[in-house]
Amino acid sequence: MTRFSGELFDGITSRAHPVTATLDDGTLHIEGDGIALAIPLGDVNVAPPVGAARGVVHLPEGRELHSADLAALAQLTQALPARSPERWAHKLESRLVYALAALLVSVVVIFSGLRWGLPAAAQLAAHTLPAGLDARIGKESLALMEKVSLNPSKLAAARRQAIAQRLAEQCRHQACPPHVLLFRDSQMFGANAMALPGGAIVVTDALVKLSRHDDEVLAVIAHELGHVQHRHSLRLALQSIGAGAILVAVTGDIGSVTDLAAGLPSLLLQSGYSRDMEREADAYALAWLGTACIPARRFADILDRLDKNTSGTNLLDSHPGTRERIQPFLAARGCT
Ligand SMILES: [Zn+2]
Repeated sequence: MTRFSGELFDGITSRAHPVTATLDDGTLHIEGDGIALAIPLGDVNVAPPVGAARGVVHLPEGRELHSADLAALAQLTQALPARSPERWAHKLESRLVYALAALLVSVVVIFSGLRWGLPAAAQLAAHTLPAGLDARIGKESLALMEKVSLNPSKLAAARRQAIAQRLAEQCRHQACPPHVLLFRDSQMFGANAMALPGGAIVVTDALVKLSRHDDEVLAVIAHELGHVQHRHSLRLALQSIGAGAILVAVTGDIGSVTDLAAGLPSLLLQSGYSRDMEREADAYALAWLGTACIPARRFADILDRLDKNTSGTNLLDSHPGTRERIQPFLAARGCT
């Protein structure tokens, strides 16, 4: 017979009740002031003591018996009936189910936040932010890109002027968002075009060389104008930097603009725009080309060629579902 003293906690209040425990014939008897429990050892668990701490005996209904008599607790542990594996498996299983359910809920919440919450917040912020902020981020991004990945264009000035003049002429006939067209040579970007916040549209020499008609370059520029119109690159930047940055931006502390700008070039190249953004930019381009009386097929032609062009990192190449995207351009009929 093992006898030891300890404190009983009833699992409801935090009050400790001094008790004496007796291990006798397969039963743990616990007695104290107004307390008389007889608990079958099958319902008893002993938590191994950690260091010099007191040991804890887990009892049914959330009760706990704490004792510093580690020798007695060791004897109690010895006396406990062998656990049947099924019982443990069941306990473990039910815990696993809870754990997996909790994990699943966490994943769903985080995913929803990133998938829908953040883009929605970024869209809201992008349309709420003052235009000056776009321009500032765009300027910083461009300065950074010119340092590391963009060089002055080597195209013939006449070719650049011809494209720029046609664009300017079109934008006198139809409403274009404020923009600046820039031709740049870039080993890193290959045949590419991109729209920066604030309206800078960068067209690489390789893209112009890949085109077989100035209309094709204009079609790509029209698509980029769509990104400018919808302030996509700013949204992309805000989205990736996260809710914290959005909050900072919305509350007007624009000290972090340089950080936003620094991260943008790699974003435009690596993650690219979402499908929805591409669709918006495509829809814009389709309407723009219709008004300009430029065959919409020109966009499909160059997109198709970009898709097959494997040299260098290609922004348009990474755009989702080229096949699906060019369909409306192939189906479009004449001027609108
Ligand atoms: Zn695009």
